[in-house]
Amino acid sequence: MRVAVISAEAVPYSKTGGLGDVAGALPKALKSIGIDSVLITPCYLQTKGEYLWDTAIHDLNIDWRGGVYRAKAFYSEANGSPTFLIDAPSYFHRDSIYGYSEDHERFAFFNHAAIVLLKRIGAAPNILHLNDWHCGFAAVEIAEKRRWDPFWRDTRTVFSIHNMAYQGGFSAGDLWKFGFGSEFARNAFAFNGYASAMKAGLEVSDTLSTVSRRYAMEIQTVENGYGLDWLTRQRAHRLIGITNGVDYEVWNPETDPELPEHFSIDDLSGKAECKRALLQAFSLPVEMDRPIFANITRLTAQKGIDLMMQVAGEILNAGAYVISLGSGERRYENFWQSLRDYAPRQVGVYRGYNEPLAHLIEAGADMFLMPSKFEPCGLNQMYSLRYGTVPIVRAVGGLDDTVQNWDAVSGTGNGFKFGPYRADRFLEKIYEAIYAFGDKEAWRTIQRNGMTQDNSWENAARKYVKLYEWTLS
Ligand code: ADP
Repeated sequence: MRVAVISAEAVPYSKTGGLGDVAGALPKALKSIGIDSVLITPCYLQTKGEYLWDTAIHDLNIDWRGGVYRAKAFYSEANGSPTFLIDAPSYFHRDSIYGYSEDHERFAFFNHAAIVLLKRIGAAPNILHLNDWHCGFAAVEIAEKRRWDPFWRDTRTVFSIHNMAYQGGFSAGDLWKFGFGSEFARNAFAFNGYASAMKAGLEVSDTLSTVSRRYAMEIQTVENGYGLDWLTRQRAHRLIGITNGVDYEVWNPETDPELPEHFSIDDLSGKAECKRALLQAFSLPVEMDRPIFANITRLTAQKGIDLMMQVAGEILNAGAYVISLGSGERRYENFWQSLRDYAPRQVGVYRGYNEPLAHLIEAGADMFLMPSKFEPCGLNQMYSLRYGTVPIVRAVGGLDDTVQNWDAVSGTGNGFKFGPYRADRFLEKIYEAIYAFGDKEAWRTIQRNGMTQDNSWENAARKYVKLYEWTLS
């Protein structure tokens, strides 16, 4: 079986969120269990030159918008599996990866270029694994091509939803410019009077997956379907949930190069050193008995920052530290900054994106806050579990799949979990966590339960192979 994974971002070439982690790690995990896979992703301005091993194709000429776009393709295996990076400077050499009014055109081009590239290298995949709305275009192009082009006849498409809230909507009048003039294509994209790349992917792909079992159910509800729940319900028989894995080569407290000291489940002394280093990094007084509550995230409403705003004062009143790493909406950035100004000896804030700091926070913190409104999978709670940092989460999406609420009587559970999106429920769990933190033995058990949980990619990759086999059958 040959698999081509197509993604708008992939670690280490580019990353803005969980999609990048998944698209970088899955091909490597597939390779490790013997599946022949190739990854195709854009080459951004942000992609480090050291990852571009070789110019594989100097003249990747793409018929595009009535002319020819002269692109290139780099080759790399920096993520641990064969990768082609499409180099089209006018589309991808920009200050940020997303956020432009013509994003739909940028990714329509990327999809088409990926298909041209696969044909050029003569390797029709059995499975074209497409990710999020950015790849809805390829789902339609392949569905059309395999009717008349024998090269694509045996290719089947898998479409993975990483976040239903981003749907790639654009004016339907643009479709013909990207070669989607047929009735089939126009119908696939048509959504409420405009075109939606997410809808097209959901409608025409052979099978669908999403990134946790719980989210597979949630996207079939009005609340989380963002207008497309009727379609996910209609296609529910072709939809499964596979909870993301963690790349334990990157996120492992025993080997993590970003940490001042390493630690393991049998010897947590290095974690105390990481806590000390973390407090010092934020110029906070080093008082080791006070718990550190941490958060690393895009600052958007999805992540439950409104709930954090409501409980932050109580956490400070309890004498704990709060550390936040993230950037995003101005109102949330302002909130963290004013909290820091209010309590400079208890609050640490870093506004921006900082991968090494994310590792130090995971290692040095005691609790990790994820009160998300919705969370397709979530990765930080799984990193936290491995680093002995106890997650406090809302029971949604992948958070519900991976975190079990602590039960002091049976000694089971790896974190704290609440249901309704309410500050009082969140706060209850925060107080429970502070109470458990005071009981060294109980705390060690919660940490152990989390650190021994296996969220490896190998598990997830085997489920993807089953999905591919199902798609081909
Ligand atoms: P989402 O994809 O919705 O942003 P996930 O939890 O699935 O959320 O993945 C987020 C990923 O991005 C994690 O690997 C997290 O550590 C990382 N991340 C988010 N914000 C930052 C930041 N400011 N600095 C470093 N890493 C970040």
